[in-house]
Amino acid sequence: MRIEQDVKLDFKDVLIRPKRSTLKSRSEVTLKKTYTFRNCKKTWSGVPIMAANMDTTGTFTVAEVLSKNLMMTVIAKHNEPESFDAVTPEMAQYVSFSTGTSDKDFERLQKCVERRPDIPFICIDVANGYSEHFVEFVKKTRKRFPDHILIAGNVVTGEMVEELILSGADIVKVGIGPGSVCTTRKQTGVGYPQLSAVIECADSAHGLGGHIISDGGCTVPGDVAKAFGAGADFVMLGGMLAGHDECAGDVMEEDNGEKYKIFYGMSSETAMRKYSGGVAEYRSSEGKTVKIPYRGPLQETVKSILGGLRSSCTYVGAAQLKELPKRTTFIKVTQQINNIYSANEIKTPK
Ligand code: 5GP
Repeated sequence: MRIEQDVKLDFKDVLIRPKRSTLKSRSEVTLKKTYTFRNCKKTWSGVPIMAANMDTTGTFTVAEVLSKNLMMTVIAKHNEPESFDAVTPEMAQYVSFSTGTSDKDFERLQKCVERRPDIPFICIDVANGYSEHFVEFVKKTRKRFPDHILIAGNVVTGEMVEELILSGADIVKVGIGPGSVCTTRKQTGVGYPQLSAVIECADSAHGLGGHIISDGGCTVPGDVAKAFGAGADFVMLGGMLAGHDECAGDVMEEDNGEKYKIFYGMSSETAMRKYSGGVAEYRSSEGKTVKIPYRGPLQETVKSILGGLRSSCTYVGAAQLKELPKRTTFIKVTQQINNIYSANEIKTPK
């Protein structure tokens, strides 16, 4: 047994220090970034925020809204290849397939790519990216699809980021346990505070010319800014995009008239019942099923996230999102938000 002595940090443990700036207004800030990926050599431009490949958020209707904002959607893996007909040619650059690592998953992926060769991203997604089988699958996928932008995850440490990039991944997805409906840390005791994971993994990836996604744990627009400030090239969101009209599932109503939508983890009992006929004898669920207050059209939330991010850039004098990490100094804090009136907030009725 060994103990690492330095305390690792989460988004809630830091704030970004403001810096002198020549920017007059947040409208001057550009959030669009351009990346050239290490292994496939392709170039992509857009606003590097993506919807998680969860049943409720990785939908084609979410993709329609996000793509108009130049943002990405990783479509949930249980969608049939034919369903990708819903992706218009304009949306294709902002959409990713996702896949698990079984032979059946690989077959489905090939069919998806055959049907829509114009969709450039493939996301290989497993809860635990540390297995040899996963690395082999990344190699196999790279070999079969040399020109696709390959995302692989999830991991939280530099040495595994390097291994995945050297095995063919262009972008490594970082995050174990930070998610809003994740119970991995509770069930297993395994995890890594997300801000430190991003700082360390970005360093490893960038050293090799690779990229990373900060996946999970963002609860407010400020967390998205912190993830970019820490060196994330992309930020993936589940809970922050859930509960909207465009998310899968019906709007339900409580007896008191309050409207809500259901949001669940992809390792929750709800998901396992839906896809695997229940929770297998040898495992436990590692996800929650929750009610999210109904939040209306997604575009309003997108506006708030992008507005917050532009404002963060203005506070540190970054004219482009690209400059944010260079201009970020984190200060460690013991309290970041004043919650005294959070229970008294008046919500605009939807
Ligand atoms: P959020 O933005 O909601 O905090 O986190 C979204 C991320 O949580 C997803 O992209 C995915 O990596 C992770 N996630 C989704 N479902 C589950 C689950 O059932 N269990 C765990 N451990 N993580 C999940």
